[in-house]
Amino acid sequence: MKILVINAGSSSLKYQLIDMDTETAIAKGGCERIGIEGSLLKHKTGDKETEIKEFMPDHKYALKLVLDVLVDKTYGAIGSMEEIDAVGHRVLHSGGDFDSSVVVDDNVLAICKKNEELGPLHMAANIAGIEACQAVMPTKPQVAVFDTTFHATMPDYAYMYGIDYDDYKNYKVRKYGFHGTSHMFVSQETIKYLGLEGKPSKIITCHLGNGSSISAVENGKCVDTTMGFTPLEGMLMGTRSGVIDPAAVEFLGKKKGYDMSRMVTYLNKECGVQGVSKNSSDFRDLCKSSAEGDELSTLALNMFTYQCKKYVGSYMAAMGGVDCIVFTAGIGENTPVVRGGILDGLESFGIVYDKEKNAQRASGIRDITGENSKVKILILPTNEELAIARETLSLIK
Ligand code: ADP
Repeated sequence: MKILVINAGSSSLKYQLIDMDTETAIAKGGCERIGIEGSLLKHKTGDKETEIKEFMPDHKYALKLVLDVLVDKTYGAIGSMEEIDAVGHRVLHSGGDFDSSVVVDDNVLAICKKNEELGPLHMAANIAGIEACQAVMPTKPQVAVFDTTFHATMPDYAYMYGIDYDDYKNYKVRKYGFHGTSHMFVSQETIKYLGLEGKPSKIITCHLGNGSSISAVENGKCVDTTMGFTPLEGMLMGTRSGVIDPAAVEFLGKKKGYDMSRMVTYLNKECGVQGVSKNSSDFRDLCKSSAEGDELSTLALNMFTYQCKKYVGSYMAAMGGVDCIVFTAGIGENTPVVRGGILDGLESFGIVYDKEKNAQRASGIRDITGENSKVKILILPTNEELAIARETLSLIK
């Protein structure tokens, strides 16, 4: 079984061809600058790499190039397109209309289009990716895997905002949560790793990357998560502000002469650790500058770890305890000082990490639990593409 995983952005199309017998990517790559001058396809099969510079007017054109390179005699991974059993698409938003991944039909596509307004840039691109595959590979099943559906199990008192109930009903304004495929993958792998299948479990998954979110996962089901109606809610991130008093948004908008839409762009793209540090959105840069004595970089790092720590604490309270805290994504997997900053001071809750193991660089799953810790602490590389491929396979079987 081979599944093609597609992650379409507004001007990009990333892909992986995954062999489900071994659960490994046999080819991967991406198209950049779709519809913009200088379009480029970068492709890799094993240790063979190639770049194709050719103008790609739209996603359909880009997908045709991807399929061509996948069957290419020199750089390809398969003999013909027939070897692809199905396509799994990353789709941003279910709009609360789907509780799980779905095989795409006309009705599903119509609902996705209706929900485009909930994440216009991402959704339009995701839909373009699906339509491109339908046009180029009409006989292959297409599966939509939503970033939000893992969080569909949150209880109403966790996902509701304190707004007029009619506004929630009429406009679907509520917490949805994102990074769902990553939280799902990481929590499922943690359950397997700790031998907790079929047993009660309380896991806090910390997906810390350019965008960051933390989820509370009880018995394999998400019960709360930090991102909200959009990925802006939660802790401050690379360039996103995270939670801020909405009244401060209006106040700041007036001072800066920004309308609402400009303010949302400001909060998404010009704030976060980048805005606070006035240095970088990249945690590698921040760690370096902070170690060299840059005070604003240190402040940004302290704000990030403090806010994450508060979410970890609140999810312990929400679940009545925790069995495992697991770190994933760029920062979660690679930045010891951030993991340490979040975990330091939680000893009275039975959370003790091994400082040496935390500081070591390694790959794969790592157990950094300290002596006498009541709570397991893991570092577990996320694999959103594999999660999408697994979902796709389970639906087409
Ligand atoms: P996203 O997928 O949301 O774009 P990532 O999960 O790739 O983000 O995380 C990017 C962040 O991870 C950056 O702030 C980067 O500094 C940090 N990071 C730290 N060490 C590494 C590393 N060795 N490789 C990749 N990212 C790293």
